[in-house]
Amino acid sequence: MQGAIHLGISLDSQSIYTYTSDAAGHERLRAQEPLSSNSASLLDTLKRLVNKSRIQFGELKALTLSCSEYFTASNSLHQPSPEQLANALSQTFTIECQLVSHSQAAAMHVSAHHQRLLSVSLGDSCGLALFENGKLRPSRLCETWAHSELPGFDWLVDGLTPVCRCSSEHCIEQFLSVGGIERQYHQIVLQDKPLAVIFAGVANAVPTDTRVYRTFIDQLARSLAKPITELMPETLLLSGDVVCHGRINDDLLVALSRYIDVSLLPDSITLSSDAFAFAQGAALFSEKNHNNRFLSIR
Ligand SMILES: [Zn+2]
Repeated sequence: MQGAIHLGISLDSQSIYTYTSDAAGHERLRAQEPLSSNSASLLDTLKRLVNKSRIQFGELKALTLSCSEYFTASNSLHQPSPEQLANALSQTFTIECQLVSHSQAAAMHVSAHHQRLLSVSLGDSCGLALFENGKLRPSRLCETWAHSELPGFDWLVDGLTPVCRCSSEHCIEQFLSVGGIERQYHQIVLQDKPLAVIFAGVANAVPTDTRVYRTFIDQLARSLAKPITELMPETLLLSGDVVCHGRINDDLLVALSRYIDVSLLPDSITLSSDAFAFAQGAALFSEKNHNNRFLSIR
């Protein structure tokens, strides 16, 4: 006999990931597809992925969609908005599809164990979310963070940037995202190099790689100084493709100590760089929602 399932879907600018868990929270299925370029086929792909899990494993009890912050500031007319996708999925499967961001999905992995947690996602875009005892605490500072100006911007240190896709200039995302770091590398050596290779070069003391990494760490510290000072998290959670360098926590804390009082320095932890981490976090939201509903009708 088939049981109940919880589903988490994550979307970034490149791929779709789904993570299916059963009623006991055990993993049942992971699936990945490239992101479709037109809205009709994107929705069709999402429906097909959800149906695949329903047919194989049982009744869908809760569904959560985690969209990278890339979608929230996108001016693209070709993709449906996250809200439109969530609404379409809700209607198709007659179940509420909760919508979260990647920084929120990442926090679900650990937020219950931390009193005040600031989740920072750094991937194709950047996001910030504050959690208190496992609950999201909405904050204007978090919502506008990625597209606010990089504090202390100096073109001699930080390089010149094109106009951001949000139409502003010198946005934090333009420096801390995968594309932003790769652009800074290109500006120095006029060659392309993937972020993972740049950061791998730091361990081998490759001068240009190290310079780009150190500049990024300082930009990250400058960007987080105000959120940490105002929101006073005890724990900082870093997630996303950018967090692939093993020493990022230590290096960030050293850099942060240049900008904030050492008594405010939080513990810094990183979420594993598993590509399914956000889909799994979304599935954890689904599990929690389903269990809450179950408790409320008893
Ligand atoms: Zn921007």
